[in-house]
Parts: sequence; structure tokens; C-alpha cells
Amino acid sequence: MIITRVLSAILLIVYLISDTSVNLSYAQKEPGQAAKEQYPKGYFMFPIQPGRQASLSGGFGDLRTNHFHAGLDIRTGAVEGYNVYAAADGYVSRIRVMRGGYGNVLYITHPNGYTTVYGHLKNYNPAIEEYLRRREYSQKVWEIELIPGPNELKVKKGEIVAISGNTGASGGPHLHFEIRDALENAINPMKFGFPEIQDSQAPIIERVILKTLNAYSRVNGEFGRVSIAPKRTGSGEYVLPNIVKAQGIIGLELNTYDRSQTSPFRMGITQLEVEVDGKSTYKLNLEKMPFDVSKDINVHIDYDISQTNGVRIQKCYVADGNRISIYETDKNKGKIFVSDNQLHSVYVKVKDTYGNTSVLTFSIQGEAPKLQESETGIPLAEESNYTGNISTSITENTLAVRAKNTKAPFAILQNKGVPTKVPLSYVGNKEAVYLYDLNRGIADFAQVDNSSSLIGIKKEILPQLGQVYTEPHLRIDFNNALYDTLYLTTSASGTRLTINTEKIPLKDLMTVLWTPSGISMSPKTGVYDINNGRSFLGGVWVGSAIQFKTRRLGNFQLITDNEAPSIRPARLDSNYLSFVISDNLSGIKSFNCFVNSEWVLMDYEYKNGRIWSIKLNEDQTYSGDLKLEVVDNVGNLGTYQVNLEEYIKQQQLQKSKKKHAPVRRKPGSGSKSKKSRRR
Ligand SMILES: [Zn+2]
Repeated sequence: MIITRVLSAILLIVYLISDTSVNLSYAQKEPGQAAKEQYPKGYFMFPIQPGRQASLSGGFGDLRTNHFHAGLDIRTGAVEGYNVYAAADGYVSRIRVMRGGYGNVLYITHPNGYTTVYGHLKNYNPAIEEYLRRREYSQKVWEIELIPGPNELKVKKGEIVAISGNTGASGGPHLHFEIRDALENAINPMKFGFPEIQDSQAPIIERVILKTLNAYSRVNGEFGRVSIAPKRTGSGEYVLPNIVKAQGIIGLELNTYDRSQTSPFRMGITQLEVEVDGKSTYKLNLEKMPFDVSKDINVHIDYDISQTNGVRIQKCYVADGNRISIYETDKNKGKIFVSDNQLHSVYVKVKDTYGNTSVLTFSIQGEAPKLQESETGIPLAEESNYTGNISTSITENTLAVRAKNTKAPFAILQNKGVPTKVPLSYVGNKEAVYLYDLNRGIADFAQVDNSSSLIGIKKEILPQLGQVYTEPHLRIDFNNALYDTLYLTTSASGTRLTINTEKIPLKDLMTVLWTPSGISMSPKTGVYDINNGRSFLGGVWVGSAIQFKTRRLGNFQLITDNEAPSIRPARLDSNYLSFVISDNLSGIKSFNCFVNSEWVLMDYEYKNGRIWSIKLNEDQTYSGDLKLEVVDNVGNLGTYQVNLEEYIKQQQLQKSKKKHAPVRRKPGSGSKSKKSRRR
């Protein structure tokens, strides 16, 4: 509570600072690199509080869940209700009302071919509002998408088109503003020049990761990731404290972000360049983002780390399956090849949209892997009788078998009874590591001396279209879901099903047909993704099997939802009807409100469960029998019925009772409760 208050006090101060009116010069600072395309500067006006210094909570290209942020998030001082202006002349080309996503969103298409997008709106101007409500009433739906023609809703530059809000998947009141070209690419709005936004702070480089990209590579003598905090040596200058030793194919990854003086939020960088020994290996330029491949962010970042601890770290190389065209690389796609014993210099330049630059420099010392006894100094046992635990893990195409306190010269892998000898790769941290390139064949079982471990790879699934896997109680149709080869593992027990791990990204939906054993099926039983939290995936029963689609691998569970959604009236009178609705498991699918059997449009804010009436005509009043029906995602129906006049009478009676009732207080508790209230 105290923390919340302190935080809101800070936010208020930040808001007050950012809200002071500033005279802005419209002189345009040219970003560091010349843009390939020319965008009309000054054509669009700033859509909210134009002419004042603005503060952002999100910028173009920010690394978000399953997408690159396609626009600017303009802060509105933690409140709703600011006028939103048309950025230029044009016509309303799309109106959409949705529960999640952009919430209430408006698209304006301009004569120069660009479209501006305004998201998370509270509502629209009266003309648009009426256009929208008429159609919602005639179709009896709340969530809707409308595509008005060029002559239906024309707007002038600077005309108020909407009021800012917090609808959809918004974490607080703000305006999401986007500029798209005619081909549905999101363009960095800053390319069009908005002097309302200023930033003179260089990006931060917080962490550097060097990662082995196959079984034959090492960083500091080991397989895996080495994570290093760089040292800041000056304004926008970073170095690594030590020389990195490496061999083979190495991936460089960075945790880097931008800051500005007008916002406490972290934003994305928009340009990145890597040079090894003076030669450019990788360039990123986030100026334009096609919507259909924005989800490939999951292979642009280190997805495994993001799923493990929520931090989004970008790769400085292009991973297999990545379809985004924001890169310029050498023939190795930015992967660093070290095949000698020389010292190599690495130079990284990171830029924000405004041309502020940070530079990181470090050295890589080539180091041949030490495999022989004479090199490692570790005597290899001719024979050993290891009986400790062994563990196995798969990182992309490499299988690692690890055994503590042994120097056994090899591990044995089995694939359907066929053995393969894998020599010891190295000993690190008292652990023997045996690395195996799965491109050579899969394995289901690993053994070191007398100890063994199940690997359980059932099949190698190639990332080509239409791959299907079947076993007696399971069929997986991978469709177009894989970015890379998947070494499939599956396990099912009771209501639980596991397919690999949620730490491997998918680019599309895969279809699963699963026959759980010992489960009595019910149409109210559905599949839930239980990787983090619980989200309803659905599922259709086909006999004793359930078919479902998922965009994620990992853990799934069957859960039966027999409970109807709950409905609580909040305010009901002749002018306004509002309720709080919720559902315990599968979630709310739809709601319908009727007064005397006439359908009433209800607006919905899923973040607090509130629904409320929207009149078609202002002079309309509500009276008579009210009925609200709420259905969850498996078809449980919750109903609330009341006669409005009786309800209003009842409410007035209760109010007057409360007014006249003596104030009851527990003996001796009066002063205490006052104190706690003050706290
Ligand atoms: Zn946004």
C-alpha cells in the first residue's frame, strides 16, 4: 500500500514535469544514418497535446510478447480523457472494438497512402460513435470491425476524432499511435519528425552473452552461455572486463535498451551494428516492420531466457527460420566463426531513433578445444565404475550428457538399441560433459558407466510444412509451426500432457489430437495451457480423443469447468445499467443484456470485469424486466433477472435503512481503527 502511494506520488511528479508546456522548435535533427526511404516530415501533427513536450512509455520496435511494438505509446499522465486529433486530413478506414489488443481503435487513411492508427481509446467523437453504435445495435454485437468507405467518415487534420483511454490490453492510460504504409508495414513514427519527443540519452548496454551454437564450439572452455556485465568507461562507452576465449561458431547476444530524459520507461533501440576485426558482420535497422512476421521476434530474441526469467535479450545474428527483413549480414548471418588462436576485436554500435549512440568493444582470443589428456591435464580413466546421477539437455541441435565426479572417457547413447560412443568433450566444474551433434542421429537413452538416463527423443521433426507425428494415443500435426528442427519428446499421464518445453518458440498453430487414458470425458472439459498460469485453449471431443490447437509447446492439462459465470449488479437505474462479471476457469465468451426483450449494447472492460450499457439514443430510458445472460467458453450460462422498478425501490429502501441505523462500533476498537486508517 505504502509502496503504491510512493509510486503514484512519483508518477504524479513525473506527470507534472512532463505536462509543463514547452516551446518546441520544429527544426528537425537528422538521425545518424540516412534513411533509405524518404518519409514526409511535418505532414502529420502529433495526435495528442500537440506542441507540448511528450513522454513515452513505449517506442517503435520495443521487444514485446510475441511482437515488436509497432508504434509509440504516448503517456497521458495516468488519466484518460485527452482529446485525440486526426494527424492529417483523410477518412476513417477502420473502426474496431475488441476486448484485448488495441481495445477501441481507429484507423485513418490519408491521401499520401499512409494510415495512422489510434489505440486503447475511451471512445470516439460523436459522429464516429453514432456510426459505430448503430451497427453494433443492428448486428447485436459489442466486439466489431467496420471498414467505412472513403466518403463515409471524412476527417480534417487536427479534428478531434476520439478521447484517449485504457481499453484493450493496456497496462495504464495512454495513446498507442502508429503509422502504416500502404503495404501494412508499421513505420517508425519518429521518421516523420515529431518535435514533441526529445531524447538525448544514449542507449544502455546492460549485458553481453556469448553462446556456443553447436557441439564443437566453446566459450571460455565450455559449451553453453557465458553472461558478462559490461563496464561503462564513459558516456556511451562500454568494454568487457576480460578477454573472452572462444572456439567454433559463437553467437553474440545483447541486453540493450534506450532511455530518455522525459520518461522512466525502458524503450527499444532501433539500430545495431557488429564488426569483427573491422568487418561488418551484422546490421539491424528497425525502421519498418511487416505485421505478419512481427511474431518472429521469438527467434530474434533468446526465447529460452525470456521464458525463464522474462528478460528479452536480442541475438546479434539471424537464427534459422527468422523471416524478418531488418538485417544486413555477412555470409555467416552474423554468427562469429573462430577457428584460429588469434586475438579478434569485436566492435558493437547501438543507436536509438534520435541517433544517440553507445559503443561496446571487447576481444575474443581464439583457443582450440582441449580434448586430449596431455592438453587438459586430466587423466582419463581407462575404465571407471561411475554410479552417480547423469543429466541430459538439448540445446538446439546439441545433446549434452553431464556426469559429476567422473572422468569416464565416453558416454554411450542408444537409439532403439543401437549404441553410439560419445567421447568426453571436456571437464568443467568437476563435471564431465559429453556433447553430441543430433544432426548425426537421435538418441533415446544415455549411459555413463553404470548410470543411465532417459532422453526420450521420439522423432526428429524437420521444420518443413506438413510434418505429422503419431503414436497410439497422440497425433501432432505441426502444420507450419516449427522454426527449427524439433527433437520431439512427449509424455502423458492422467489429465496432463507434455510436449517438449515452452522454451522452444513456435511460429504458428499446431494441431494436437490426444486420447487421455482413464478420463471420463465431458463437453465441459477443455485443454488449458499451464506453462505459466492457466489459459484456456479449448478443444473439441472426437469420441474419446480431444483435438486442440496451440501456439506453444510445453505443459497442457484437461480441466472441467462446470461453474457458470458470476454476475453482480453494480448500478441499475433508468439511465444506466452496469454489472461486474467473472468466470473462474474457461473465461467469459459472451454476454447479452435485454430490457423487455430488447437487446441493450453493453461495453466491457475485461481488466476489472465491468460491463455497462450504451444507449443508441440519449433520450432512451430503461424500465421493466431486465435480463443479463453471460456464457463462458465451455457453454456454462449465468443469468441475472430483475424488474428494474422493483430493484430501484429495494435499493432506496436499503439506503434509507443504512442512513437511520445507529453506527455500531466494537467496544474499545474505535481509536485503534482510526489510527490504522491514517496509516
Ligand atoms: Zn502501444
